[in-house]
Amino acid sequence: MTITLTDTLQHWVNNAPFSGDGESRTGKVYNPATGQVARQVAFASKTTTEQAITAAHTAAKEWGATSLARRTAIMFRFRELLASRKNELAAIITAEHGKVLDDALGEVNRGLEVVELACNAAYMLKGDYTESASTNLNVHSLRQPVGVSAIISPFNFPAMVPLWFFPVAIASGNAVVLKPSEKDPSSSQWLAELMKEAGLPDGVLNVVHGDKEAVDTLLTDSRVSSVSFVGSTPIAQYVYSTGTAHGKRVQAFGGAKNHMLVLPDADLDLAADMAINAGYGAAGERCMAISVVVAVEPIADELVAKIAERSKKLRVGDGTRGCDMGPLITGEHRDKVAGYIDAGVASGAELVVDGRGGNVDADGEGFFLNPTLFDKVTPDMSIYTDEIFGPVLSVVRVDSFDEGIDLINSSPYGNGTAIFTNDGGAARRFENEIQVGMVGINVPIPVPVGYHSFGGWKASLFGDQHAYGPEAFKFFTRNKVVTSRWLDPSHGGINLGFPQND
Ligand code: NAD
Repeated sequence: MTITLTDTLQHWVNNAPFSGDGESRTGKVYNPATGQVARQVAFASKTTTEQAITAAHTAAKEWGATSLARRTAIMFRFRELLASRKNELAAIITAEHGKVLDDALGEVNRGLEVVELACNAAYMLKGDYTESASTNLNVHSLRQPVGVSAIISPFNFPAMVPLWFFPVAIASGNAVVLKPSEKDPSSSQWLAELMKEAGLPDGVLNVVHGDKEAVDTLLTDSRVSSVSFVGSTPIAQYVYSTGTAHGKRVQAFGGAKNHMLVLPDADLDLAADMAINAGYGAAGERCMAISVVVAVEPIADELVAKIAERSKKLRVGDGTRGCDMGPLITGEHRDKVAGYIDAGVASGAELVVDGRGGNVDADGEGFFLNPTLFDKVTPDMSIYTDEIFGPVLSVVRVDSFDEGIDLINSSPYGNGTAIFTNDGGAARRFENEIQVGMVGINVPIPVPVGYHSFGGWKASLFGDQHAYGPEAFKFFTRNKVVTSRWLDPSHGGINLGFPQND
């Protein structure tokens, strides 16, 4: 198998490239490290998206009836292929997203965890059985696939986020239409080709590229049963309200503003290292990035000095050259993030490290910003309230642990958070009282392992089922309960009363 990164990337339907209704709308895909357009990507029209849904809808019936043994055998083969070729995928991620190669490989490895989970589908989908619930009456429950699952993913994890969903959806017996981000679409195409190589039948995994037109078609077509969305909060709200209004089961993961609380007893060198890793890794373009360090006095001066010293040493540049941090996704996004730095200065925050300038190890006009650090940030500033999604770290100073907890709980977002302390009692209270879905204790980016589910609270998730882990199998299947009685010859008689168990 070779992925053909042609001038214009086409859709993937029924295990083959698909040009759809010959639509002319396309988008540009950049190499963010050079600023050059690498290729074009076709944008699916309503008709093309409907054709992909038709392929999935047709495939879903037979695939849903295929034995678990056969379905999971394909997943095992896919797991082996992906593990043996992960460097190839990492290179595609770096070329289109810009994140450094090590980080891209980390993304693939976290995606592999979910493929391994999907290999356990037979165990995860086991039903329940009750014998003799009533006289001669048995009850069992079983889980059946929902049918056609739509997956709409963001640019920042072009391989991992699709892998959060499609392996479990498919292992559970559904057919999928995946609409990846139009900014870095090739990883999804590569994964779909690999699924074909693993033996997946035609139509079970389809990829359409594009924008709102494709998304709206997926949200409104009656043949789509479930929608898994990951992206910014406003779009997540829109997807959730539109999809549910059209009778679909929807999980819509939104944006974030993640805080890291550092108590005075913490190891400040460890906390500074972790703030750097979680604040500037992937140039801050992670939904679990730390964007606010909450320093409980009297340690703020010392902590800020340690973070500043480390941030100045980071090597920024082309992700293929062994740098620490790569570019932002587009020039437009880089300018937006730089605008937040201007706004932070104008609102009176103390600019400790200015990322608007400095050296970059790359050729051409890539979309770079160096790490930026603000101190004495207050909750009314836009650098505090908004999800910047760039390498901009803010320090907010508070006088007490309680003040720190109140600040974090006041955020409209609730994706991830972390506490740094050596005090077990404080950590326990934090874990209990914090209003956030994923909590780290001396761990800055607490993305759960594949067999625990991932999901935030408040404006970071609309819908009640989280991604991967046990909740994914619930999301991608419907429960059915069967009550059965096999009559013995002594039974009989009419009784119009409500059935009771005896
Ligand atoms: P985005 O919201 O711009 O795009 C996400 C998807 O929605 C893409 O496939 C895009 O094509 C589509 N889309 C864009 N505009 C649309 C519209 N008007 N109508 C319908 N669909 C539309 O997000 P992004 O910039 O690609 O990704 C970054 C965002 O994703 C950040 O806010 C980040 O926090 C969030 N994110 C959240 C999680 C999480 O688990 N909570 C994980 C990763 C990323």
